[in-house]
Amino acid sequence: MSKYRPTNPPPDDRFDDDERDASDPRPTAHMPDAKVDIPRIERAVREILIAVGEDPDREGLLKTPNRVARAYGELMAGLQDEPRRHLKTVFTERYDEVVLLRGIEFHSLCEHHLLPFTGKAHVAYLPDGKVVGLSKLARLVEGYARRPQVQERLTTQIADALMEELSPIGAACVIEATHTCMTIRGAKKHGSTMVTSALRGIFKENPSSRAEILALMHA
Ligand SMILES: [Zn+2]
Repeated sequence: MSKYRPTNPPPDDRFDDDERDASDPRPTAHMPDAKVDIPRIERAVREILIAVGEDPDREGLLKTPNRVARAYGELMAGLQDEPRRHLKTVFTERYDEVVLLRGIEFHSLCEHHLLPFTGKAHVAYLPDGKVVGLSKLARLVEGYARRPQVQERLTTQIADALMEELSPIGAACVIEATHTCMTIRGAKKHGSTMVTSALRGIFKENPSSRAEILALMHA
């Protein structure tokens, strides 16, 4: 699937004790192994260090290009994923009430600055016969989050995937996130939160259904 051959060592060697530190957590098990061009990112990070006036050969920075490359591999692992695969295993249920998973934590990367934005997603749908396990909703969010993103697109991708894969009566996604490109630089709007919503089907068309789902999400 990737145009790059995987350059990561075999999984058992990837996190030997010498390499592992607090910044190198093991990737979550249900995400595919990130297939990024590690040596190419290493060269680019080395260039950035030189460009900002650092010495990439000083002791503290020696392993930094490799650490950054592997961190990017993990943060961008969603690029090699098709998050909709989590919606392919469905149960047929005569359940005609709202299914809502609230407060799904996610970490993404703003595609304008490659700085993290993190927050919570609230995901809901009103099934029309097809139901998925709750954990699948969390994995859907994670798959779309782990790639260069903008919050608006993340929100609509989640709602559209639910609509197209489950054909529900309605789907809704509300995301609240803090963007470090806003809080640590530029406008430095510390503590500001961005809220986006994507409403589909009955949640878009019916005002009382919309009011009900938004109230449930913010309860
Ligand atoms: Zn940004």
